[in-house]
Amino acid sequence: MRPYVSVGLVVLLLLGTSSVIIYFQKTLLEIEEVLPITLSKQEREIRVLVNSMGTLVQNIGFARADQSAKSFRVVFRQTLEIERHLEQVRENYRFNDVLGATAIHAKLNPAIVDIKSWLSDGLFNFEPTSAQTMKLAETRAKQAHKEAEILLRQVGETAIDVLTKQSLRIDNFRGIMIVTLTALGIMAIGLVMLGFRLQSIVYALRESEEQIRYRANYDSLTHLPNRLNFIEHLSEAISRGRRDPGQIALLFIDLDRFKTINDTLGHDYGDELIKQVASRIRKAIRETDVVSRLGGDEFTVLLSNMTDEIHASIIAKSILDQLSRPFQLFGHEVYSGASIGITVCPQDGSDTMTLLKNADMAMYEAKDQGRNTFRFFTSQMTDRARQFLELDKEMRRALIQDELQIHFQPILEMENKALVGVEALLRWQHPLKGLVLPDEFIKVAEETGLIEDIGLWVLQRACEQALPWLENDLHPEFYLSINISMRQFKGGFDRKQLLKILDQTGFPADKLQLEITETLLMDDDKRIREVLSDFREIGVRLAVDDFGTGYSALSYLREFPVNTLKIDRSFVHDIVNNKNNRRLVETIINMAHGLELVTIAEGVETEEQDALLSELDCNMVQGYYYCKPVAAEEIRNLARRTPDIRIVHSS
Ligand code: C2E
Ligand code: MG
Ligand code: MG
Repeated sequence: MRPYVSVGLVVLLLLGTSSVIIYFQKTLLEIEEVLPITLSKQEREIRVLVNSMGTLVQNIGFARADQSAKSFRVVFRQTLEIERHLEQVRENYRFNDVLGATAIHAKLNPAIVDIKSWLSDGLFNFEPTSAQTMKLAETRAKQAHKEAEILLRQVGETAIDVLTKQSLRIDNFRGIMIVTLTALGIMAIGLVMLGFRLQSIVYALRESEEQIRYRANYDSLTHLPNRLNFIEHLSEAISRGRRDPGQIALLFIDLDRFKTINDTLGHDYGDELIKQVASRIRKAIRETDVVSRLGGDEFTVLLSNMTDEIHASIIAKSILDQLSRPFQLFGHEVYSGASIGITVCPQDGSDTMTLLKNADMAMYEAKDQGRNTFRFFTSQMTDRARQFLELDKEMRRALIQDELQIHFQPILEMENKALVGVEALLRWQHPLKGLVLPDEFIKVAEETGLIEDIGLWVLQRACEQALPWLENDLHPEFYLSINISMRQFKGGFDRKQLLKILDQTGFPADKLQLEITETLLMDDDKRIREVLSDFREIGVRLAVDDFGTGYSALSYLREFPVNTLKIDRSFVHDIVNNKNNRRLVETIINMAHGLELVTIAEGVETEEQDALLSELDCNMVQGYYYCKPVAAEEIRNLARRTPDIRIVHSS
């Protein structure tokens, strides 16, 4: 029911109620008017009768006095007239005898009947016109007239009484009627209001039902179809494709730098980026293609009725062009880019899940190929996925069978090149592949979560191995630096776990440094901040690893209890030739010193780099120029060779 229908109903009800009131009022007024008219008419009739009776009395008197035949006839005719009149009155008021016409009839009629019979037949042996007959008739008429006059007086009183009662009854009736109609009116309005309320409840229910349906099918941020909706579109297209020879292609799009932007600039910026990405993808495709947001920074596009695969490449290219242009996010210029995986139906899969899974795999391949590019799915990719699972299985075995090892890379003081610390770096002594470096397996371990166990193992093993170095002739400030993955923190790594290992190994907390990533600092999780503060509280040092690569907002450093910045080796690498990098490293060092943070340059490979870093006042250095990561046994030998520990072997 629409609102104007309800308003119409209220108006109709009000009009209806008021017309009923007006109708009743009019009827009552009419009744009020009619009764007095009826009464006065009846009273007049009765009065006329009584008066006629009076005249009859007089006429009989005349006739008695002059004894003429004419007078006698007058009397007789009048008797007949009164009799007829009486009959008429009785007839008229038979059903409406308010004032007592019947009573008058009862009084006058027997007298008239008597007089008439006396005047026509005579009385005993007197002639009808005889003085005796006339006398008796006169007496009878007088008596009847008198009684009729008494009745007439009563008629007046009765009329007043009837009128008073009627007006009282009408007043009462009017009161009751007004109260009843008002109550009815109020009830009607109440009902309509209730109708309104019900109607608005129904509206709200319908709206929330629509919202629920919308939420179940669309992404609330971009208003694009969501995963569920997309899968429906895809399976429809697949079944249509079975009847129709045109090809279907599925594009799986993943943004390249979303996580960094989200972590560093915040979720509002992340959301804004997603919205802009959605609208740019829409611009790059045809009206008939379906774009959806699967979640996070993942989008899919369904291209139907394609003539060949080149068409999918053209659209993928145009999406990449759109997404590689800078985005303006609340005044910040941000670059994102994307990687796209493409599957074609039916070659790469004939059901929704296979097509999606394979497109996802192709997207990872595009990422591995250097990002901001697209890749078609190939069967080798499924092999890679198999390898991923295989690697996970093997790593679990490696952890149990003690195939993991730790190498240590020296960290030197810049000024006197003293060995002040070592970084523990994980190695995997694979029975067939030989020594495997972390880049080949850490990512998988992070994805599967195995890094949580591996991380604890590294911590325990490195502390055990490094403990004797503290007791002997190594530098008094000597410390052990260990990498902790973000996934480890997310998995519950905290003060309790750390204290337990320090307890078991006897390694002093103040000789331990944990290397964390910039993205960990950007994380909104309050718990992580608390855990980091806990670590500082027990004396553990915190270093930000690979500093400068994580889109870092320097202001974060002020808020966190870190001690050290490890400048990423990508800056150190061309510090000598690239002026910008040199300036950047200089700024990082100056800023770090301003914040009383220690700086370590990673990946120092040449004398020039070393000299330049020394010039820039970097506190410590680590790199192949001095020493590659070495097995634990080598560390003591190296320490003995300080200040010139330079050997470049091992891993
Ligand atoms: P990272 O923590 O930044 O470690 C430094 C990496 O740079 C090491 O690679 C080291 O061998 C390498 N490196 C040191 N000096 C030079 C140099 O002069 N030139 C070049 N080209 N490279 C140099 P590695 O051992 O392969 O480790 C790679 C990454 O794996 C580490 O980067 C770290 O992020 C991760 N990783 C290693 N061990 C662990 C671990 O026990 N736990 C966790 N969570 N991550 C680890
Ligand atoms: Mg490190
Ligand atoms: Mg590093």
